Amino acid sequence: MTKTVTAYAAFERGGPVRPWSYEQRDARPHDVRFEVMYCGVCHTDLHSIGPWGRSYPLVPGHEMVGRVIETGPAVTGFGEGDLVAVGPVVDSCRECPPCQAGLETMCLTVATSAYDAEDRHGDGITRGGFAETVICDERFVYAVPGGLDPAAVAPLLCAGSTVYAPLKQWDAGPGKTVGIVGIGGLGHLGVKMARALGSHVVAFTTSAAKADDALALGAHEVVISSDPEQMADQSNRFDLLLDTVPAVHPMTPLVQALATGGTLCSVGMPDTFDVAPFALVLGRKSIAGAGAGGTAENREMLEFCVRHGITADIELIGRKDINTALDRLAANDVKYRFVIDLTA
Ligand code: NAP
Repeated sequence: MTKTVTAYAAFERGGPVRPWSYEQRDARPHDVRFEVMYCGVCHTDLHSIGPWGRSYPLVPGHEMVGRVIETGPAVTGFGEGDLVAVGPVVDSCRECPPCQAGLETMCLTVATSAYDAEDRHGDGITRGGFAETVICDERFVYAVPGGLDPAAVAPLLCAGSTVYAPLKQWDAGPGKTVGIVGIGGLGHLGVKMARALGSHVVAFTTSAAKADDALALGAHEVVISSDPEQMADQSNRFDLLLDTVPAVHPMTPLVQALATGGTLCSVGMPDTFDVAPFALVLGRKSIAGAGAGGTAENREMLEFCVRHGITADIELIGRKDINTALDRLAANDVKYRFVIDLTA
């Protein structure tokens, strides 16, 4: 049976979200339907409501935790009442090499996003987790590990995944000096994870007021990235810089901070890279990009978080505060992830 769902949708590019009801599809054989309890507010939601949006009404939200209320007849991994989580990808071709390796976010036919994407089976546009319920194929559903606050687990599904995957890819760990650039939703988890992996961690922030927090999150050092003198002191020392900044910003000083052969990995989504090529050539340095991890990496990431007691630092908000939270996120005023409490 389809289900009438109340959600929070943007009705125009850059507009506020408002309550909206839509018909959610019948459960397909491998589908899990769950009541959303908590949903993180990612900077990608701002980009998506704004310049990236394709179809309105647009229901954002891709950091979801909830409780299963229905399963399709072929579902084997989950049952009613289970606590589950879903991230930014809800489907993929499953046949290309990345999909077969559990790296569905890199699907060669482009993975299906949790919202504002064409469903692969003709069931319209996908809708996200700013909603009462979400439905998703069990391949993209994760069991929420016991012992962690479920509201603070929600941001792990996107923010956590997006920093964990490149930290692993570029071997962050003992003996490595790793910088995390931008201490927001992604960045604060990057600091925690890079520290737990055993790296020497340096937080780069434009917000001097975040310096003490960055140290408390696990950074060994803090650099004010808008201060040219402090940046000049960083020359040639980083194996990896993980850049989470969502806007165009000077990257040449960051490249200059890389050690010979080092990598600046951008996971933020600026419109363009502001970098002088000579800075790359001198020192055989690389600029790379990364997206959220696939299902295999996400399961590993959740186990890693359980082992190290890592969750997001969150501000829990009610449904009525979603637009205020979006405005505050745009103004860099959050410590360090808004999570909507949909249980109230
Ligand atoms: P966020 O919570 O807003 O954090 C971004 C941080 O970047 C801010 O807290 C701020 O840190 C710094 N910053 C913001 N504007 C800046 C500017 N103009 N110049 C320099 N620094 C600035 O955002 P988020 O949710 O972490 O997301 C960050 C970016 O990652 C977004 O573009 C998002 O779309 C993208 N993202 C990508 C993926 C992926 O798959 N690759 C997944 C999730 C998110 P300080 O105050 O410390 O300077």
